[in-house]
Amino acid sequence: MRTGLTPAEALRALLEVTPVMGAETLASRDALGRVLVEPVVSTRCLPPADNSAMDGYAVRAADVAHASPTTPVDLEVAFEVAAGAAGEGSLRPGEAARILTGAPLPRGADAVVRQEDAERAGDRVAVRIAPRPRENVRGAGEDVRVGEEVLGAGTLLGPAHLGMLASLGRSTVSVHQRPRVAVLSSGDELVEPDGEIAGGRIVSSNSYSISAQCRELGAEPVYLGIARDTPEDLERRVRSGLRADVLVSSAGVSVGDRDYVRPVLEKLGCTWDFWGVRIKPGYPFAFGRCDEDGGPLVFALPGNPVSAMVTFEQFVRPALRKMTGHTAWFRPLIAVRLGERLDKKAGRLHFVRVRLERRGGEVVARPTGSQSSGVLRSMTEAQGLLLFPADATELREGDTATVQVLDAAFLASPDPGF
Ligand code: AMP
Ligand code: MG
Repeated sequence: MRTGLTPAEALRALLEVTPVMGAETLASRDALGRVLVEPVVSTRCLPPADNSAMDGYAVRAADVAHASPTTPVDLEVAFEVAAGAAGEGSLRPGEAARILTGAPLPRGADAVVRQEDAERAGDRVAVRIAPRPRENVRGAGEDVRVGEEVLGAGTLLGPAHLGMLASLGRSTVSVHQRPRVAVLSSGDELVEPDGEIAGGRIVSSNSYSISAQCRELGAEPVYLGIARDTPEDLERRVRSGLRADVLVSSAGVSVGDRDYVRPVLEKLGCTWDFWGVRIKPGYPFAFGRCDEDGGPLVFALPGNPVSAMVTFEQFVRPALRKMTGHTAWFRPLIAVRLGERLDKKAGRLHFVRVRLERRGGEVVARPTGSQSSGVLRSMTEAQGLLLFPADATELREGDTATVQVLDAAFLASPDPGF
């Protein structure tokens, strides 16, 4: 097993062996947030026929080419077409048809005069403004043509995409399955949130944050509970997670006397690819596979709440993004100006939890306070993780740095911009 990898080496190694999930068919209305397996090619034209963009009168543009407010052109209103009409009417020279928005343009007509630009009197209409040919006409196929690839494979389905699928008559759609992620906590000190915390006990917050990180990615967490620090209890719980696509454990993966996660998983068929990544927080992170019999990918996260969340961010998240069919696996990166000086020892890449503030055309990043890996407040406050490079020992106030954006809410505006 390799150890002491750089984060780039670790990421490359695990992404290389991370599979993409297979397909499932869903009702399009339930496919929000899913990723398309295949491109969607239209078998229809949208709109299907030329139709009116306005309430008004369908005309032959040539008939009314000389119309003006002082010299209106008088036409006979021969018939009426409403939205949803079959469009069997045909316009002869000198005729207009009353037409409503969305109604098919009758044969012979090539423009629509807005109601406001015409005056109706009985079965006649006086056109006061000459429309250009095709004016106020929505052309057949101007949105989508037959045979056109409308949505590419790998498209993340948002509201507009679901509307488009509906317009194309696709009430079902083939999307990537969501990975099932078994989430295991371990430690004799851990209790559930309603448990007693006297006597050195603490709440297993990782169970909540890690499950939520999964859910945010559209993966389905399956909670295996809290394992006691015994090989037997760990084994029993890990076994119940071996049918999942991914197993994420936290704690018990360091070099302590009761750190049984690695040996127990080995016993159950897991091969470790590496242990230990040169980052802070989160050095004692391990990745392995139980892939005989299609077992899960195994991510053993350190126990400290911040280390667990940060290693999930750096390693589990990109893998789950790949599994769910996404083509972009990483958080948005932005350049920031540092609002405060930072120091560290050389050797590891640090992920500094920062708050972000827009100032003029720049973003200023400030550490959230204590960067201890046990201080979960540093994550509740964080809008980004600032990359303090492995070899650097200081970053000065005003220096530029790169931030992985966790929460784009710092971009939210107090006004609508219009
Ligand atoms: P360990 O890796 O087991 O030595 O755990 C490292 C630290 O993380 C210890 O202080 C644990 O109490 C803490 N810890 C472990 N698991 C959890 C958890 N599920 N939730 C919150 N803290 C935890
Ligand atoms: Mg422990």
